[in-house]
Amino acid sequence: MVQIVIIGLGSGGFAAYLAIRRTKPDAFITIIDKRSYDMFSPCGMPYAIEGIVNLDKLSFSLPGDKQTTKLLLHEVVSINPVEKIVKANNLKKGEILSISYDSLIIAHGAEPFIPPIKGAKENLGNGVYVLHDIEDARTISDRAGNAKKVLVIGAGPIGLEIAVALRTKRLEVMVVEMLSFAMPRALDRDMAKLVEQSLKENGIKLVFEKSVESIIGTPVSSVSVGGKAIETDMVILASGVRASFEITKNAGIEHGKWGIKTNDGMETNIKGIYAVGDCIETVSLINHRPVMMQLSSAAYRQGMVAGTNAAGGYDIYEGALGTFVTVIGILEVAATGFNEFFAEAAGYQTISGKAHGKNKPEYYPGAKDITVKLICDAKTGKVLGGQALGDGAGAIINVISLGIRCGIDVFSLARTEMAYCPMAGENYNVLNKAADFAVRKLEKGR
Ligand SMILES: Cc1cc2nc3c(=O)[nH]c(=O)nc-3n(C[C@H](O)[C@H](O)[C@H](O)COP(=O)(O)OP(=O)(O)OC[C@H]3O[C@@H](n4cnc5c(N)ncnc54)[C@H](O)[C@@H]3O)c2cc1C
Repeated sequence: MVQIVIIGLGSGGFAAYLAIRRTKPDAFITIIDKRSYDMFSPCGMPYAIEGIVNLDKLSFSLPGDKQTTKLLLHEVVSINPVEKIVKANNLKKGEILSISYDSLIIAHGAEPFIPPIKGAKENLGNGVYVLHDIEDARTISDRAGNAKKVLVIGAGPIGLEIAVALRTKRLEVMVVEMLSFAMPRALDRDMAKLVEQSLKENGIKLVFEKSVESIIGTPVSSVSVGGKAIETDMVILASGVRASFEITKNAGIEHGKWGIKTNDGMETNIKGIYAVGDCIETVSLINHRPVMMQLSSAAYRQGMVAGTNAAGGYDIYEGALGTFVTVIGILEVAATGFNEFFAEAAGYQTISGKAHGKNKPEYYPGAKDITVKLICDAKTGKVLGGQALGDGAGAIINVISLGIRCGIDVFSLARTEMAYCPMAGENYNVLNKAADFAVRKLEKGR
């Protein structure tokens, strides 16, 4: 009987497990995770800190069966691709266990990046925190209960979600970002301004183009930012995640600049070994160049592909767009594809179409502002990316994501028929409007 081992029970590992069961119901599956508890949803943690959801509700049990072995509190320490054996350390007993496999799926994710700031590593857990697992969320919540001030390092979606959560808990919140605007990987400066405005209205202080040089005191009492001491009771590091590649490199698995390399079947250079999620580098669906895409939705889809193929089926993952949505305070923020910076860095000359509108007619109660921006290739009109802010932003971005996947240009997007009724939309949809503006700019340039 086929033996499939999965390292890591996160988004990628879970999806792989379900796909294996669907493809080969009688396969033996061993899932190894170093955590002490079963599945959980990291994406819900900021909302648990905010008090919107119960932290205990974020974890749930993997639907088990006779053919599945779940080894929690086991940390994989080596992979031997010749003998097809994985070694795992039983963290409770300190014993090493050898587990054989026919196919292996590496889904071990990545760990929070600790920036080289004086005092960051030393104070981790004692005034300096990361948000990676349930224990972190609990610690941050507890500490926030008797803190007055918090400083968040990093203005990406996760940093901002945490900032809003702690502001809701009535802490004084400051966010420090090295780059010059919020969510710089996903948004353009003009769109980020609206996010920043919403954060400021919420009472969150934002500091751009500055780095935290040191974290002072044990327990933490202040930080030095641009040579200025700023008092704080806690520091949250939200500077991204990095995978550790020691195990996979020792096993001879090929890596690119960003992570483990795979083909479109999620298989590594070693036959029968697959890799998915935050530990891999994938390709951009737009220009097929390597990218890092650390999103749960990408990990899940890759896990489905790896699980299907590892169990003898066939599926492919063609690449990622980075389609995401978040809600920062009351502002829904979503984006897909390239922003202007990344489009130009990829060699495109771009034009954009940006439109403001309402998610319902002005006269309808509860009509809210919505802003949509499309980025397209100035030569062909091909849509390269989209950004949306306001109620319904995620739904609009999903349409753009589908369009990019199908190679749509702004001419077709402008003509795309959108549903309308006063309760649920505008007659002249803001996405059509943004596409029309881009079309006009393109036609002017011809
Ligand atoms: C606060 C927060 C909010 C987020 N919000 C969103 C969101 O809204 N939308 C979105 O798309 N993404 C979001 N993400 C990102 C998303 O959670 C990750 O991209 C996703 O979890 C990656 O899945 P994965 O399977 O690669 O890794 P993970 O889900 O991290 O799972 C990896 C697992 O491997 C285990 N492991 C690691 N090393 C070993 C080892 N040596 N041996 C055994 N087990 C090991 C770990 O314990 C872990 O359980 C968020 C992340 C965080 C932290």
